[in-house]
Amino acid sequence: MDTEDHASLREAVAALGKRHGRTADTTQLWADAGKLGYLGVNLPEEHGGGGGGISELSIVLEELGAAGCPLLMLVVSPAICGTVIARFGTAAQKQHWLPALADGSRLMAFGITEPDAGSNSHRITTTARKDGDDWILTGRKVFISGVDLADATLIVGRTEDARTGRLKPCLFIVPRDAPGFTRRPIDMELTAAEKQFELTLDDVRLPADALVGDEDAGLLQLFAGLNPERIMTAAFAIGMGRYALAKAVEYARDRQVWDTPIGAHQAIAHPLAQAHIDLELARLMMQKAARLYDAGDDMGAGEAANMAKYAAGEACVKAVDQAVHTLGGNGLTREFGLASLITAARVARIAPVSREMILNYVSHQTLGLPKSY
Ligand SMILES: Cc1cc2nc3c(=O)[nH]c(=O)nc-3n(C[C@H](O)[C@H](O)[C@H](O)COP(=O)(O)OP(=O)(O)OC[C@H]3O[C@@H](n4cnc5c(N)ncnc54)[C@H](O)[C@@H]3O)c2cc1C
Repeated sequence: MDTEDHASLREAVAALGKRHGRTADTTQLWADAGKLGYLGVNLPEEHGGGGGGISELSIVLEELGAAGCPLLMLVVSPAICGTVIARFGTAAQKQHWLPALADGSRLMAFGITEPDAGSNSHRITTTARKDGDDWILTGRKVFISGVDLADATLIVGRTEDARTGRLKPCLFIVPRDAPGFTRRPIDMELTAAEKQFELTLDDVRLPADALVGDEDAGLLQLFAGLNPERIMTAAFAIGMGRYALAKAVEYARDRQVWDTPIGAHQAIAHPLAQAHIDLELARLMMQKAARLYDAGDDMGAGEAANMAKYAAGEACVKAVDQAVHTLGGNGLTREFGLASLITAARVARIAPVSREMILNYVSHQTLGLPKSY
């Protein structure tokens, strides 16, 4: 349930979304949302943020999505990168990045996925080695969103443990134009302003202060960013599902081919009602996850954030499918704008962690079942 503050934030963001709508110029919307303080609602006040949490940032993304203009980079720039820097960055990193991430004048992408690791992020091989005070980064990443828009990418790499020789995860800020850091856009079947890239890091030399946080606390720091990522992906999915459902309901109220509007036929009405219920339930779990995370319960938030992402991804895919079907032939026209959501909705089922990997997590972590891999 929304608090009074949350309800007024929701209303204000919805009004901004309505002004921009489905055909929004994403760059302009990003700038407007930054000016109004929405991009940094979760970031600390002393660094130019709103002093709220992921509860507030997820409202921003959900409402923009419900208005037809989701900002995918909210999942990455303030939610993952902003959170990690605010919690673990040096004073200089905080000063340089947080006010700019909050007002939208700078943007940061996030790269963990690798071609040969995929869902198994324990297998990533992007490696950082020391050369004097510098770090040298080598590796490849794939499907990284918004690298062209971002001033830098927060790259998950590994450093070698001096004692055990084992590789530990570490986070590095890699500027967009760092020598040896190249990107190639992937030809995605998605209609979105944010592109995905394959990245190559070929002996990228970084100064010592490119490392975020403690070299030895990698995993903990990473998880601090991944829970917000899952919660925000749930918000992205719920917003998109609500947008599609609202379009379908509007259409089903008016469209008449027999004696009553098609929305009076229960074969049309009931699946739309179910879609609404599924989206509401997913939102409840998302709110639970956000509350736990904002209260500092990283472990509790982990389970809830995974379940919220799962529920929201499934609810979104079903809502979009039913919405397209409700419009009959018009569901597949460009004019009505729903067909492209069929592909877009699948993103929340695959990224940042697939439906199956969440089912694995719940099987093992929650139910205590044995692992097959
Ligand atoms: C639009 C988009 C944007 C993205 N943006 C980013 C980004 O900004 N940064 C970033 O780092 N990554 C990003 N990603 C990558 C995303 O996180 C990965 O695609 C995702 O983690 C899945 O990895 P994969 O594609 O390699 O699939 P794979 O790991 O190859 O999985 C393929 C299939 O096998 C299944 N599978 C794998 N292992 C198991 C198992 N043990 N049990 C059961 N099933 C299994 C999976 O569920 C999936 O259905 C993005 C992806 C997309 C599509």
